[in-house]
Amino acid sequence: MTISLTDTQTQAQPTWCPGCGDFRILLGIKKALVAMGKPLHASCIISGIGCSGKLNHYVNTYGFESLHGRTQPVMTGVHLANHKLNVVAVGGDGDGYGIGLGHLMHTMRRNMNMMYIVHDNQIYGLTTGQYSPTTRQGTKTASSPFGSLETPVNPVKLALASDGISFIARGFAGDVDHLYKLIQAGMEHEGFALIDVLQPCTTFNKINTYDFYKERVYKLEEDASFDKTNKDLAMKRSEEWGERIPIGIFYQANLPLYEASLPAIQDKALVEHDINNINITGLYKEFI
Ligand code: SF4
Repeated sequence: MTISLTDTQTQAQPTWCPGCGDFRILLGIKKALVAMGKPLHASCIISGIGCSGKLNHYVNTYGFESLHGRTQPVMTGVHLANHKLNVVAVGGDGDGYGIGLGHLMHTMRRNMNMMYIVHDNQIYGLTTGQYSPTTRQGTKTASSPFGSLETPVNPVKLALASDGISFIARGFAGDVDHLYKLIQAGMEHEGFALIDVLQPCTTFNKINTYDFYKERVYKLEEDASFDKTNKDLAMKRSEEWGERIPIGIFYQANLPLYEASLPAIQDKALVEHDINNINITGLYKEFI
């Protein structure tokens, strides 16, 4: 089926600040959906709370705006109800690596066939610029006027340490062509895919700007010495941050899917089961 970028639009207009990296992640997701060529009703985008939380209002797929830090349980529920859907969750670094981190760890190790895109701008943008889990140490923000004291979360390293997850990547919102191909690869991958996206917040983060990243990012796939199937190599590259920052697929493997162990959904999706003729008398008796 052929779909176009125009088909992916809704009537809602983005309310993000001018130049925000969210616009480019939105475009990356739309381009990936077009490149995949699946009908738009075959995808569902789940969002959390934060500036990125509105993203699913702007894409003409199914959507669900969930609670802060709760995209993972919601996407798991959607996927188990209909594992034939292309289920994608989006959230910010506060949503995913702060309040939602407990859920994320367990979703990663289950390796269900879904994708999570994190808009990682190293700040809480919606609440006007407090330091977040990925803010670099020493950064002055509204809540750390003398500089953040905490060691930041390293999302790629954290995911690599979580046995079970089979696709871990990092993108940059300033390179949409590269980003959409990563997103498409994550959508087409059989298993859980995490894509951490370096996303400038033009209003509250004056350090991690487009220029900051443009001077530093390099693509792992252009480095002949890198092998995305080698977890040890990926772990080493995940520690690289400074003059050079790697983007691309850090790790990809063919690992068992959680849903492959669920007998009830082997023949058809849960939503396709006939629930009108189920006899639950025996079950009743067990509990009465
Ligand atoms: Fe984007 Fe930052 Fe504005 Fe939020 S506050 S919309 S992240 S630029």
